[in-house]
Amino acid sequence: MSIIGFIGLGNMGLPMAINLKKAGHAIQAFDTVPAQLEKAKAEGMEICASTTDAARGADIVVTMLPNGEIVSAVYSQIVPAATKGALLIDSSTIDVSTAKSLHGQAGTAGLLSLDAPVSGGVGGAEAGTLTFMCGGSEEAFGKAKPVLDIMGGKVIHCGDGGAGQAAKICNNMLLSISMIGTCEAFALAEKLGLSAQAAFDVMSTSSGSCWSVNTYCPVPGVGPKSPADNDYKPGFAAELMLKDASLAQQAATEAGQATPMGQYAAMLYRHFLANGGEGKDFSGIIEYLKHAERGNA
Ligand code: NAD
Repeated sequence: MSIIGFIGLGNMGLPMAINLKKAGHAIQAFDTVPAQLEKAKAEGMEICASTTDAARGADIVVTMLPNGEIVSAVYSQIVPAATKGALLIDSSTIDVSTAKSLHGQAGTAGLLSLDAPVSGGVGGAEAGTLTFMCGGSEEAFGKAKPVLDIMGGKVIHCGDGGAGQAAKICNNMLLSISMIGTCEAFALAEKLGLSAQAAFDVMSTSSGSCWSVNTYCPVPGVGPKSPADNDYKPGFAAELMLKDASLAQQAATEAGQATPMGQYAAMLYRHFLANGGEGKDFSGIIEYLKHAERGNA
């Protein structure tokens, strides 16, 4: 049994913390929203008055927060408060350069640290089947693994500090491109008089096959059940896709790597969100693309 500080009890963090509690760990929970603290309390977690209280005396501190700016502000409070030798795990999705700088701060203070962003969404957080992409030392990963195994189905050590965030944004940049390509292919198939079923049967078994076609088809009524069959209710919200696609572009700019398709995909998600995409699943961009004027998407 470990004492685990858990900071950020939102859509993802609360079910993750619940799984740790159910596995027998003692949770010191903190969130800035009182209603979230009440939910944590109802699950038998110890409620803390501040980030520092959640970190104090903990063997491990997990953060699951909205963005890099907030994670940085929280680290400036918890790094001085944590016990020497404790492990900090940040599972938020944040930019690679901030993640690296947080590793530096933790190391200087004698703490172990791991960036461990996730994929799998709220369903994966509730079921304990998230995929964790981890960056940090062997020692940090080794200490984190048994705890991450409780919350996840797959836990991958991607490399040194920042490697988890790098893996996450590269994957999601590819997903943003493959989903838009899939939507374009189905939209064109429809205009050419091809049925969605025929398009699916061919593309899912031919060289165009990919996760966006085979598993998460953006057209209702074909392929396995997906948000398309539920009026594009997320799923993986378009807002979160734009966040990740934008982080990928920030990293590409900093690294000096050309990613023209990634750049274009991020721009299309921005347009989708400004034109009815708010609150929709990211695969709902097919509706935007179907109605966009040619040459003017
Ligand atoms: P959320 O907004 O539901 O939860 C964030 C929580 O952090 C909120 O409860 C908020 O009150 C709390 N918070 C904000 N500032 C705080 C502070 N200073 N101290 C303590 N608590 C604070 O977001 P979420 O959907 O749970 O996502 C969390 C992270 O996980 C994000 O970085 C997101 O990109 C990533 N992520 C989300 C999903 C998803 O499907 N929701 C999937 C993969 C990754």
